[in-house]
Order: sequence, then structure tokens, then C-alpha cells
Amino acid sequence: MRKEFASTAVMKKIMADYFYELNGAAGTASAKIAWCTSVGPAELLRALGFLVYFPENHGALLGATRTAQDYIPLANAAGYSPEICSYLTSDVGACIKGETPLSRAYPGIERPPRPDVLVFNTNQCRDVQDWFAWYSRKLKIPLLGIYTHRGIKEVAGAHIDSVAAQLLSLIPELERISGNKFNLDRLKETVGLSLECSRLWRKVLETAANVPSPFTFFDATVQMGPAVVLRGTTAAVDYYKALLAELRERTGLGVWAVDGERHRLYWDGMPIWGKLRDLSEFFADLKTCVAASTYCNSWIFEELNPADPFKSMAGAYTRLFIVRSDEKKEEYIADMVRKFAIDGIVFHDSKTCPNNTNSRYGMPERLHETLGIGTVTIFGDLNDLRCYSEEQSKTKLEAFIEQFGE
Ligand code: SF4
Repeated sequence: MRKEFASTAVMKKIMADYFYELNGAAGTASAKIAWCTSVGPAELLRALGFLVYFPENHGALLGATRTAQDYIPLANAAGYSPEICSYLTSDVGACIKGETPLSRAYPGIERPPRPDVLVFNTNQCRDVQDWFAWYSRKLKIPLLGIYTHRGIKEVAGAHIDSVAAQLLSLIPELERISGNKFNLDRLKETVGLSLECSRLWRKVLETAANVPSPFTFFDATVQMGPAVVLRGTTAAVDYYKALLAELRERTGLGVWAVDGERHRLYWDGMPIWGKLRDLSEFFADLKTCVAASTYCNSWIFEELNPADPFKSMAGAYTRLFIVRSDEKKEEYIADMVRKFAIDGIVFHDSKTCPNNTNSRYGMPERLHETLGIGTVTIFGDLNDLRCYSEEQSKTKLEAFIEQFGE
């Protein structure tokens, strides 16, 4: 059984406040709403007074509530292939059907908040651009975007300058839509809060470096909500201070996430949202802690610097794992394996997200060779459970963990 955290009740309240604020503001003049991709320029939008909504978070909710499969076919029928991002297809399908899991979680909310502007960054993939473009056409809402270099080994000054210039160029249109004048001090403050949130989130994740660990990848997927949707706010900073204190207390008292922890794994790739609880219990039964992941670490933006907000935002969003070359990714995973005392790596080959799948071009084999530890690849998807071969994956994982012995 996953051990619940006392802090989770606070998180649920923060998330409810967040969604109700968006719902209350939608369609009114009180505050404008920007939809933003998960690693889009949230700090800039907040500094301009927008309330910021993240459709990827809605996509994850559709996956976690296992409602995604009801909606994906509707997007497929509208011409969006079953092979592309299943966040996109489930979210677009839910919009076509006029339904949202937010209604069940937050009574009174009938639909995601209507945007006043849509802002993407292609640093993670092109799907976000097509996803937002669909809404732009349907709702007749302005679409703005940042185009980031991808597959980068060494991030150069020219990469940063190009993204920083694109960020700056968004300001006139965002001022027009928000009705607010850009204020540099406000941006510095927001960037400072985002940085503080990142540092705390890193410390939360690093509590799992303790052997045994008080925290798992599965806990982190639950606890990452504020880091995703509320970075740049004091609510997120306060939340992670409290969660960190609780984790440190657990470490002091010897309360571990997996009773009798014997093995430690690293998870690369997307979560399988509809199977998180099931997988968490499956690994716990095998006395195995999935101690760290690429995914949950992707919301650490420690390069942010309030003194140089535009360049540091550009740097933080360009040095992300997903943007980098395989060589850089392998160096990163090797560091994580050492830091978290990992015995083996699970690669999740996520059918509809090649961008967050790193097992298709020999990376598991290369890491096995350089690190001398085992790797296993399972086939699934972030939201589309038709792509997840559960029995085959569990058989593979059991055999993989058996190799570690008692
Ligand atoms: S990175 Fe993957 S999961 Fe995320 S929006 Fe892009 S395709 Fe979808």
C-alpha cells in the first residue's frame, strides 16, 4: 500500500483553489487566462497578470482517471492519428464530447477554463503546437509560440539568445490581450519564486537518494502537481517546504516508502497514468523502490535567475533533458544512477510519445555497457492503455528484478 502523506491534504486544497480561481475568472474581465505548455513561459504570463492553465495537466488527469480511452477515438475521427500524443487526442476528444474529469473532482466546474491566449514552446515536442492550434481554430483565440532548438549536445549562446529574443517578442501581444503593462520587477519576482519552487522540488526528490527511501517515483507523480501548475507562486513554495519537512521527518523516524526495500530502480519515460497505483503496489510487493525518474526531475529549473530573467528562462527551458542529445541524456541518467544508488533502469517505450521515449536508438544497451547495470524496456503509453501490454510488462519486470537476487 502506498503510504499517504499528511501534506497531501494541503496539496488537494491548493489544487482546488487553483482550479476554482481559473473557473471563476474564465470569461470575466477580472483576470485573463493563458493556456501554457508545461515548459512554456509560465513566469512571463504570470508576471503579466494572466492566470495560467496547463492542458498537459488535464491530459494527465484524463489518463489517471482512465477516461482517456473514451475520448481518444473522437479526436481520431477528427483526423488526429492514434499514433500521436495521447494527451492531445484525449484532451481534444474530451473537448469534442464536452466532458472533463475536473467536474467530478471539483463540483461546479463544467469545463476547462476558456483561454484568452494560447502559448506553447516546442522544446518538448511539436505535438503541443498542433494541440494548441486546434483550440486556436476552434475557439478563435490567438496562438503564440516559442520555437526551441532540439537534440542539442552543448547549448550555445546563440541558442539562448534566440529563445530569449522570442520571449521578449511575445510581450506586446501579451500586453494587448491582458490589458496590463509589462513590469520587469514583477517578472523578476515570479522568476525568483519559480526558482525557489524548483530548488525545493529537487530537495523533495532527492530525499529518495536515502537508502532505503521515504519517497518513490509514484509518490512524486502525485506530489508534482503544484510544481507543474503553480510554479512562480508562493503557494507552490509553501507547499514544498511542508512536504520536504514531512519527508525529512519520515527519514529521521525510519518510515520508508517500500517496507523491506531490497532493490532500487530508475524510471525513464512517461508515467503510465492509468496504472500508477497498480504499478506502485506491484513494485512494493517485489520489495523494489522506483527511487528516481527522468520525468519528475523535468520540473527542476535551477538555471532561472531573477537578475537576468529572459536569458535564464531561455537557458532553463533549453537545457531540459528532453531537448538534449542522447549523449547528454546518457550522462544525466548515469549521474542519477550514481546519486540514487540504482540497481537497474526501466525504460518505458511510450507508444504515442517518442519525445519522452529513449529506448529506441540503443540507449539501454549503451547505458548497460557503461554503467554495468541491467536495463529493461516495457511497452505502454502515457494515456492510451490499449498500447500497454500489462501481462507481458509485469512478466518482464519480475524476471528483471529476480536477477538482482535477494
Ligand atoms: S512530450 Fe510527449 S506527452 Fe508531452 S505533449 Fe509532447 S508528445 Fe505529448
